[in-house]
Formats: sequence, structure tokens, C-alpha cells
Amino acid sequence: MDTTTAQYEALALYIGGRFLSARGRPEQEVINPATGEAFAQLPHATREDLDNAVNAASDAFQSWRHTPAIERSALLRRVASLIRERAPQIARNITLDQGKPLAEAILEVQSCAEHAEWHAEECRRIYGRVIPARTPGVQQTVSREPIGVCAAFTPWNFPFNLALRKVVAALGSGCTTVLKGPEDSPSAVVALARIFHDAGLPAGCLNVVWGVPSEVSTHLINAPAVRKISFTGSATVGKQLASMAGAQMKRMTMELGGHSPVLVFDDADVEQAARFLARTKTRNAGQVCMAPSRFFVHEKAYERFVDAFTAEYAPLRVGDGLDPQTQMGPLAHERRIDAMQALVTDARERGASLVCGGSRLDETGYFFPPTILTGVPDDARLMVEEPFGPVVPITTFSSTEDALSRANALPYGLASYVFTNSIATAEYVAGRIEAGMVGINHFGLALPETPLGGVKESGMGSEGGIETFDGYLVTKFVSQASRVP
Ligand code: NAD
Repeated sequence: MDTTTAQYEALALYIGGRFLSARGRPEQEVINPATGEAFAQLPHATREDLDNAVNAASDAFQSWRHTPAIERSALLRRVASLIRERAPQIARNITLDQGKPLAEAILEVQSCAEHAEWHAEECRRIYGRVIPARTPGVQQTVSREPIGVCAAFTPWNFPFNLALRKVVAALGSGCTTVLKGPEDSPSAVVALARIFHDAGLPAGCLNVVWGVPSEVSTHLINAPAVRKISFTGSATVGKQLASMAGAQMKRMTMELGGHSPVLVFDDADVEQAARFLARTKTRNAGQVCMAPSRFFVHEKAYERFVDAFTAEYAPLRVGDGLDPQTQMGPLAHERRIDAMQALVTDARERGASLVCGGSRLDETGYFFPPTILTGVPDDARLMVEEPFGPVVPITTFSSTEDALSRANALPYGLASYVFTNSIATAEYVAGRIEAGMVGINHFGLALPETPLGGVKESGMGSEGGIETFDGYLVTKFVSQASRVP
């Protein structure tokens, strides 16, 4: 495997069907989180570029909205096959600018071919309906039309997947879009734009811009032609963008953070659950919005769980994601190291015990070890704020009601997990836990055919599943009489 940066993506804006390099625009350094070194420059959009992107999307919408679904579907199928073809190179660049182990990056990109195919299939089924009329000679129809130009903002943790999901939903429904990807890990979004370009997407249907996030989002959300906002990221930023969009009655899909509770009952396969959860937590060094993050274990199973979890999690090999021996990569940014350290310090000050890890591994890359804290009180910051990293708090519960009330105590509600061999317990908890997704005895989330979304402050709207186009369509009712009464 080539570990140099020589083959790194040529970073660019993509506006009106053209890739635009810096040429005097401000630029931002791209840093390899495994070395802490800058190795590429990303051009930022000027205000004129942003306006050009919105105008291009607006012009393209006039024809793309009327492009037959079967043609939109064919385009998405070509996209799927290009994703499969280019996955190795795209994945390698994700590892360079985001840090995750190469095997995980390959899986991230390859899974997107299936997301594109699911949207290719579903976009042919955006049906309307006929409502029986009260009067002879009257025909009442309901159709669903694309809402218009969308502005999408996607984060760095799954830079290809999270962007791809928004783009295929917008384009599949007949909308056009301006996408701002993650400036820290930009290669995947530029590669995505090249795929759509090469698949024959008409100019202006997809535009990619970069810049200072708050400036770009404010500009795009306030652009009159933009009718829908889609954001994946933190609840704090999501609420800011939602208030801007709400002030102008613009539609929004918000996939925000969570703090996923895991309830392990004493009738579960405790050791298997512990090993499975440790492996799940390893993924992307815990920088996953659905990562299990608050571990409530029945007091009778607690010691067995902690021992088995620690045996699997503590020895993980942390290193450069391009090293095939690496099991967990660096965190994506220096600021995530500081965030982990602050959570660990606070938990220990409140009486938690450190089982393993707990401090930065070295000063060059952004490496933080697998970290476990036990006996973490519910008011520790680690139990209240989404850690978004490899720090695991484990605590006990005594009864189902105790576990449920503590699991539901936070304002978040994205994913949740239950481990039990009792069907009655599984059904009882799944029916009462406040979350958009529940995994029982396994992970099973985020597939193309299943809806992904949160409740409470974890967001609104779903991506994936048959719900995927709902946020991009408006309903039109037409009542037609054969003659004037
Ligand atoms: P952050 O809040 O600064 O940024 C999160 C993401 O939002 C980044 O991609 C950033 O570019 C973008 N962003 C920030 N301000 C924005 C704005 N005004 N307009 C548009 N986009 C904006 O935090 P961070 O340090 O990058 O990430 C840590 C936190 O972000 C985590 O605690 C986690 O809650 C959240 N996050 C969630 C997801 C997710 O999949 N839901 C992904 C990445 C980050």
C-alpha cells in the first residue's frame, strides 16, 4: 500500500459542472491526523462562488425536476458502479485526511454503492394517489413534487457515506443541491463530485463548496432559492441552523448527535455482548453518532461484563490507519484529544475508576487509547455529553425501570441498544426507550433499506428506508372538473 500523499485527491470546488482550483481563493491546510502534518490545501469558496453555486442549482432544477424517474434511476446506478470501481483510492485518501483504518474506510465507501442503488430503486416509486371525488366528472389527484434547491452540510466522521446519502436523496427525488462537506477531511466529497460528474449528471445539479462553516451555512440558508436544509453534525450546531431555516419556513432534515444508552440485562449472553460492544465501539475510534456510549449493566452482570469488555478493548492496537496491523486509528482532530482528556478528568474527579487508557498516546499524531471508566456517576460530563471518541463509561442498574429512566434522562434520542435473552424484556424496553433506533442483541442500523434518524434533540426526519425522500418532496393536490358547474 502506497503511504505517500502523492496520489491524494486534487481538491477543488465543483460549481455548475466545473471543478475550480484555488486561483487566488483563500486556502485551508488539510492535516493527516496520524502525523499532525499538513499535506494538502483546500480552496475556500468566495461569496461569488456561493452565489454561483446556488444559481447553478436553481437553473439545473428547472430541467432536473422534469427528468423522468427512470433516467434519474439510471444515473444513480452508474454512480453505484463508479463507487465500487474507485473505492480503494477514495478509501485510502479518507484514511489520510480522516484517520480511520483503511479496511473501515473501504467498507464505508463500498456500502455507499448500495445506498445509491437503493435510491435508484426507490425513486421510481415516488407515487401519487387518486382520491374518489364527491361529484361526477371531478378528478382529485395528489402528487409529490421535488421541493427545489437543497443546501447540505456534512461532517468528517463518515465523509463519503454521510454526503452520499444526502446527495442521492436530493437527486433521486428531483431536487438539486449545494453541498458543503467537511473541510478537515475533504477528499471524499471531491471524489464524490467526480463520480457524479463522470456518471453524466447534468451541470448544476450537484455543487460542492468549502469555507468557514458558519459563514457558508448562513449564506446558503439565507439564499432565497434554497428551499431545504439538510445537516449532519452536533446538536448544538443543528439547533443554530434549524432556527435560521425555521425563521424562513424552510424544510429541514437534521441528523444530530446522540449519547446512545446500552442496557445489558443479567439474562443476556453477557460476555458475548461485552466483546461485541467493544468491537463496535472501536469503529472509527468511537467517532460515530450511533456508537454505544453510556453503558448501563445490571448489577448482577456488572463484573463479568467489565472483565470481558476490558479484555477485548484494552489491548487494541492504535496506530496509523494505513498500517494493516492497526485496529483503531487516531482521532480526527487535535480538539477531539482535548475533549477526551477533559471528560476523563471530570469523571475521575467525581469518583469514577480508570480501568485502562485515559491519556494521549504521543504528541505527533492525534492518538487516544481505548479508555474505560467504571462507577461513573450519572452527573459526570461523560454521562451527559456525547463523548464522540474511544472513552467508555460503565455503570450499574438495579431494575428495568431504573435503567429506562436513566437511559431516557438526556435530551438526546438517536440510537439505543438492549442486550437480553427475554423477549418480554426486549419488547418492553424497545417500546419505552426514547430513541429513533433500537438495536436488540446486535447493531443492525444504518442499512440503505432502514430509516436512520433521531428524536428529541437528536434531530428530525429520516434518511434511508422508504422514508428517504419524504424530506425532499412537497405534496400537491389537484382537483379537476370536466366543466364549470
Ligand atoms: P463541531 O460542532 O465544531 O462540528 C461538527 C460538524 O459541523 C463539522 O463537520 C463542522 O464542519 C460542522 N459545522 C460546525 N459549525 C457549523 C456551522 N455553523 N454551519 C455548518 N456546519 C457547521 O464539532 P467537532 O469538534 O467537529 O465535532 C465534535 C462534535 O460534533 C461531536 O461531539 C458530535 O456531537 C458532533 N458530530 C456529529 C456527527 C454525526 O454524525 N451526527 C458527525 C460529526 C460530529
